[in-house]
Amino acid sequence: MVDQTKIKEAVKLLLEGIGEDTGREGLRETPDRIARMYEEIFAGMEDDAAGHLSKTFAVESNEIVLVKDITFYSMCEHHLMPFYGKAHIAYLPNGRVVGLSKLARTVEVYARRPQIQEQMTIQIVEAVMEHLKPQGVMAMLEAEHTCMTMRGVEKPGSRTITVASRGCFQEDPQWQALFFRMLGKENESNQDLT
Ligand code: ZN
Repeated sequence: MVDQTKIKEAVKLLLEGIGEDTGREGLRETPDRIARMYEEIFAGMEDDAAGHLSKTFAVESNEIVLVKDITFYSMCEHHLMPFYGKAHIAYLPNGRVVGLSKLARTVEVYARRPQIQEQMTIQIVEAVMEHLKPQGVMAMLEAEHTCMTMRGVEKPGSRTITVASRGCFQEDPQWQALFFRMLGKENESNQDLT
């Protein structure tokens, strides 16, 4: 459970630290608002992909499933600044499939935590592999990191792309190629795969 008292104290200190007057009207409710907001944006801390991926359905033939453009918002754990974008997940079933919305739920579980994009991509494919047990799974995340675009190197609009694969997608370049082709991203298929 999120400790709202601690968050409120921390935000107050933070505002004092930058020289703000925490008593002025616009800031008076800010610690309280952030504490409530953090409960929501870090809800993944108390959620578990197993619950979402455990209800599966039998299929007669194993055809590739791709869910693309799953919008996500996460918080960079190095700066506590948002990074956001889209996730694309494909898997080749092994007799069982999962409800399509459950893949989006799985993304949420890992997005709503202090996170780095590389790690999140790996956590998604490993969760699908572990709980759904498909023949293979692959994910691509594309995101803009505000810690990079509004400070530091300041490159607005730059996107970070990460991919991870397991099973047949990791072992067989043809499955990887199909994944990129289905996404219309053949040009990005020459990067390193985790
Ligand atoms: Zn960052």
